[in-house]
Amino acid sequence: MHFHKSESAFFVFIGVILAVGVVTFHAYSVISAGPHVFSEAARTEEVQYLRRLLLATGVLLGTALFFGMFFIYPLIRRQVVEEDKLRQMTASLSARSLTLEQAALTDALTGIQNRRYFDDALREYLTEFDRIEKPVGLMILDLDHFKQINDTHGHNIGDEVLREVAKCLKDMTRYHDVVARLGGEEFAVVAPNMDAELLLKLAERIRRAIAALVVLSGNARLKITTSVGLAIWDQGESADQFFTRADKMLYEAKRLGRNRVCA
Ligand code: GH3
Ligand code: MG
Ligand code: MG
Repeated sequence: MHFHKSESAFFVFIGVILAVGVVTFHAYSVISAGPHVFSEAARTEEVQYLRRLLLATGVLLGTALFFGMFFIYPLIRRQVVEEDKLRQMTASLSARSLTLEQAALTDALTGIQNRRYFDDALREYLTEFDRIEKPVGLMILDLDHFKQINDTHGHNIGDEVLREVAKCLKDMTRYHDVVARLGGEEFAVVAPNMDAELLLKLAERIRRAIAALVVLSGNARLKITTSVGLAIWDQGESADQFFTRADKMLYEAKRLGRNRVCA
């Protein structure tokens, strides 16, 4: 068995205290036995003996005190400081991994969720809502002629438009809806517990709100529109099939002339 340094120190300390106990008890028994020798010389010798025992007790106690103060206490102190440091490190590490995890699921440009988060969330919602048999709505949005905005006003203005659209989507949805940028100028909203009629109303409101957005580029006031594809989960299809259905509706909205919702 291997003992830690502070454990060994503790055992030595206890050993010394025990020795003090034994010597004290022995001295007590000598005194308690009473005078059984009467010669003056023998008595003096007994007193001398008791004095030596008392001295030994003092020396042992002094040793224990010295040992505790200058050896055990610094060991404890160091351990406390090390543990504190370790705790701080663990806390900052876990905070860092939380931030990293968040960063991995967030779109850097707009601050909303990214494709990876969207895929996981959609699958999770479908599993959950299959169990409670409630509808799940899906909305896929693609900005119209966005390439022209980049080409005419530059990439920075294009980015600004993307940020404004993301903010608008966030403002118009509920907190448990998943709002994500799927990539480029394509966004998606997962709206749990929403039937076809409600989803269509929400999509129309969002389409109008995006059409009402104004982004300034120098003296120009930029307007943008979006096409939207909708689908309500049929409880049987996979997340991929569900997504493909909404995507087909988006394609239909583009084909019919853009700035519209297709369900
Ligand atoms: P449509 O109405 O058919 O959707 O036309 P569109 O121009 O919107 O579609 P297209 O796919 O031709 O162009 C998308 C453009 O989005 C091309 C690309 O330059 C731009 N884009 C993609 N990602 C970003 C980005 O992060 N920032 C900016 N500013 N532009 C981006
Ligand atoms: Mg696109
Ligand atoms: Mg587009």
